[in-house]
Amino acid sequence: MGAVIITGIALICILSVIYRFLSINGSIAAFFTGAVICYSFQWQGLIVLGFFFLTSSLLTKWKKERKQDRNASSEEKNGRTAGQVFANGGVALLAAIGDIWSADSIWLIMFCAAFAAATADTWASELGILSRSKPFHLKEWKKVEPGLSGAVSFFGTSAAILGAGLIGASYYFLYPAASIPVTIIIIFSGFMGNFADTLFGAWFEQKYYCHICKTETESKWHCKNKTEKIFGLFWVTNNVVNFSSTAVGALIAGGLYIWVIN
Ligand SMILES: [Zn+2]
Repeated sequence: MGAVIITGIALICILSVIYRFLSINGSIAAFFTGAVICYSFQWQGLIVLGFFFLTSSLLTKWKKERKQDRNASSEEKNGRTAGQVFANGGVALLAAIGDIWSADSIWLIMFCAAFAAATADTWASELGILSRSKPFHLKEWKKVEPGLSGAVSFFGTSAAILGAGLIGASYYFLYPAASIPVTIIIIFSGFMGNFADTLFGAWFEQKYYCHICKTETESKWHCKNKTEKIFGLFWVTNNVVNFSSTAVGALIAGGLYIWVIN
C-alpha cells in the first residue's frame, strides 16, 4: 500500500512538471512534502493537499491571458518553484513533522488550517484579479487596480471563504473523528490566515513600479523590463508573506482548538 502511494505521489510530481504546474526543484519539494504528509495524516492528508494543489494550479492557469495583462498572477512561467511550494505547504509540512514527533490530534487541525489559509489566499488572489470592480486597499485607504496585495474586494473575500470552506469540508468528510466545531475552527482560521496575508501584503510587501506601463506591481520584471523598487522591506517577498499567513492560520486553529475543544 505504502509503495503504491509513494509511486502515485512521484507520478503526480512528474506530470506536474510536464504540465508546468511545478518546476523541477518544485516537484522534488512537493514529493518530499507529500510523502511526509501521507506518513503522518494518511491518504486523507494527501487528498487535502491535492484539493489545494489542483484548484490553485487550475485557477492560476485559468484566464491567464487576462491576468498577465494585469500582471499579478503569482506563478512563474515554468511552474511553482521549491520556494513557492514551501511558502504554501511548509507550515503544513511542519505540522506533519510535529505529528511524527508527538502524536496529538492538534497537528491535524493545524495542518488543515494551514492549507485552508493557503487555499483561501490562492482563490482570493487568482479570482480577485478578475474582479470587475476595483478592490479597496487597506493601507492606502482607496480603490486600486485589481491584483495588488493588500487590497480587498467582495469577490475576492467570497472566494477566500469558499476556498477555506472546501478544505474544512474535506476534513469533515475524510476523517471519521471530525466534528462540526473543529470544521468551523479550520474554516475560520483559514479565512483569518488569508486576512493576515492581506495585511502583511498591504504593510510590508515589496512593491515595484513599471516605467513602461506606469503601474505598480509586485514583480521585479514587467512588460519584459526590469522594474524599479518603490516600497517594502527587502526580505518580505511574496513567499515570506504566504508562509506567514499559513502560519497565522495554523496558530489560530491550534489556539482555538486548545481553548474551545480541550
Ligand atoms: Zn508594465
